[in-house]
Amino acid sequence: MSELPLPPATRQLGASGIHVSPIAWGMWRLTENGRTAAEAAKLVHAALDAGITFLDTADIYGFDGAGGFGDAEVLLGEVLSAEPALRGRMVLATKGGILPPLPYDQSADYLRKAIDDSLARLKVDSVDLWQIHRPDILAHPQETARVLDDAVASGKIRALGVSNFTQAQTAALNHFLGTKLATTQPEISPLRITCFENGELDQAMMLGLTPMAWSPLGGGRLTAPENAREKAVAAALDVVADAQGVSRTVAAYSWLMAHPAGIIPIIGSQNAERIAEGAAAMTVRWTRTDWYAVLVAARGERLP
Ligand code: NAP
Repeated sequence: MSELPLPPATRQLGASGIHVSPIAWGMWRLTENGRTAAEAAKLVHAALDAGITFLDTADIYGFDGAGGFGDAEVLLGEVLSAEPALRGRMVLATKGGILPPLPYDQSADYLRKAIDDSLARLKVDSVDLWQIHRPDILAHPQETARVLDDAVASGKIRALGVSNFTQAQTAALNHFLGTKLATTQPEISPLRITCFENGELDQAMMLGLTPMAWSPLGGGRLTAPENAREKAVAAALDVVADAQGVSRTVAAYSWLMAHPAGIIPIIGSQNAERIAEGAAAMTVRWTRTDWYAVLVAARGERLP
């Protein structure tokens, strides 16, 4: 039975020339449990020491519905100012464009301010990847593109990405950009498989975008499956996990990484051992048969 290729040691973000590990670590949950800068630093070290060089945050991480906007960036900024050498070891990604609690804002003035505020909180001169977190339907993509191109030209941002965009929104923004999009960040997991058949990943391959998968464990649900569908997906992952001596979570990351679009799963754990363990996903091999078994379990019905 032929095996699907293992991921390469590094992946390029679009055509940006920026190379990252094929799996990332995300800081959505970084400020939970009153985590201190010293505790956050241990997690950053756990990722980097395991070879996970791609770190993803956002200006809204830390917001709890009332306050905390920017707190995850502030915490990472404290880590970086205490140990400046860490900055050179990571490819740093952040996002903006959500103004809590809801309205999305990609007006020119707001975007310019959001980018500057993120750099100030992170205590860095530039970020490697800046992503629009969710699309603002009221922003004209030409205006958004102009602000983003300016930020690239001024050296504040090296590469651009989108998250939670429809295919048409991605194409429209990319059309107007001088520096074309490098990444897209939809929700993708063995429990959220719409991207595999709705054209999003096909568009990513066509435009040369690197897909980053948010909530690759379904927000943790894969670790404690509840309903019949979740249990069936977990069981299909366990077949490969057990055969190759890895955990189900590692098998889940590697299942995403086996897709030809070069999906980069973003580990969501804030536990040092679990973050480091995620790097093992680079070594898991999939056959077409095993891969499709997970897909069929997630679909809940046989393929035609
Ligand atoms: P996830 O990997 O689907 O879920 C992580 C959760 O699962 C954590 O609470 C983790 O808890 C828990 N978990 C339980 N057992 C685990 C195990 N054995 N191994 C790993 N995790 C386990 O990811 P996520 O946190 O929902 O999202 C990941 C990243 O995606 C975020 O940090 C963020 O960068 C990005 N994201 C982006 C968007 C967007 O709109 N662009 C939205 C959501 C997330 P412990 O910490 O206790 O391990």
